[in-house]
Amino acid sequence: MIHINAESCNGCGACVEVCPVGALSIVQGTAVADALLCRACEACLLACPASAISITALPAVMGAYAGLPALRPAPEVVRIEPPPAPEVAHSAALPALVAAVARVGQQWLPRVVEVASQVLQSKASDTKLSTGSRHRRRRGSG
Ligand code: SF4
Ligand code: SF4
Repeated sequence: MIHINAESCNGCGACVEVCPVGALSIVQGTAVADALLCRACEACLLACPASAISITALPAVMGAYAGLPALRPAPEVVRIEPPPAPEVAHSAALPALVAAVARVGQQWLPRVVEVASQVLQSKASDTKLSTGSRHRRRRGSG
């Protein structure tokens, strides 16, 4: 059982806040304990800034409850759902366009490479021919 020194108590209510079984209340500016509810957990002793609470010998009926877990009402669980993900605008035409570009690339790219390679080879042979005729002309004139 606890004892509250009314001379020291300033009525701040800190003990009422921490009592897990609601055994304390403020009456006319002073904390008052309900001996039948008190579990002697000493939470109010630790919370009191005025050291106005002390523990006294437990009555026989309270001894059985001392040290038992505090009886708190089940906390209210507030579930906050995340907001729905923003919808991404999907164009139905986009996948078809990508597939078409890929198909054209597959068909035409090898052909483009082949033509480019032929052009380069023909230019290279033209260059060789023209260089050879220039050499022959120089030799003939000398
Ligand atoms: S000892 Fe525990 S149960 Fe008793 S009044 Fe203080 S806080 Fe409440
Ligand atoms: S915490 Fe201490 S001072 Fe504050 S109301 Fe309770 S007994 Fe009084």
